[in-house]
Amino acid sequence: MTDWKDEVEEIVFEGKIAVPYTWTVGSTLSKWYGELRDNAKIWGNRCPSCGKVYVPPKIKCNECYKDLNDWVMLPGTGTIETYTVVNYEEPDFHPKKAPFVYGIVKMDGADTGLVHLIDEVEPEQVKVGMRVEAVLAEEREGTIMDIKYFRPIA
Ligand SMILES: [Zn+2]
Repeated sequence: MTDWKDEVEEIVFEGKIAVPYTWTVGSTLSKWYGELRDNAKIWGNRCPSCGKVYVPPKIKCNECYKDLNDWVMLPGTGTIETYTVVNYEEPDFHPKKAPFVYGIVKMDGADTGLVHLIDEVEPEQVKVGMRVEAVLAEEREGTIMDIKYFRPIA
């Protein structure tokens, strides 16, 4: 008995599916995005057991599983821990035209990294350890893009 798949040319289509969706970010991130939008403040939250400060905040500590209800206002400055230069265009996903830089910024007062754009600097000038500051959008909507990007501290 022959398998029909052995006798048929396999035809493959490549494509993309745009799937609109809506979801709640939950109480912890709602507070975080609300403070960013309404008061232009970046907060983290601290574990009462190990002291680790998360930004963006989390509900539970990854290390101790304790509730994280202790909010800590952060100064908006930090250090680039790592980065990548994006050189391909993907206008449906990327917030700006390539080439541009995504970095992981460890904000002062926090113990975790925040992934965001690094701008106002040429990609080849970005370095691990570079000091940066958050630049907030003039009109904020309660999204991660309320932080426009991080730029080097002059
Ligand atoms: Zn902890």
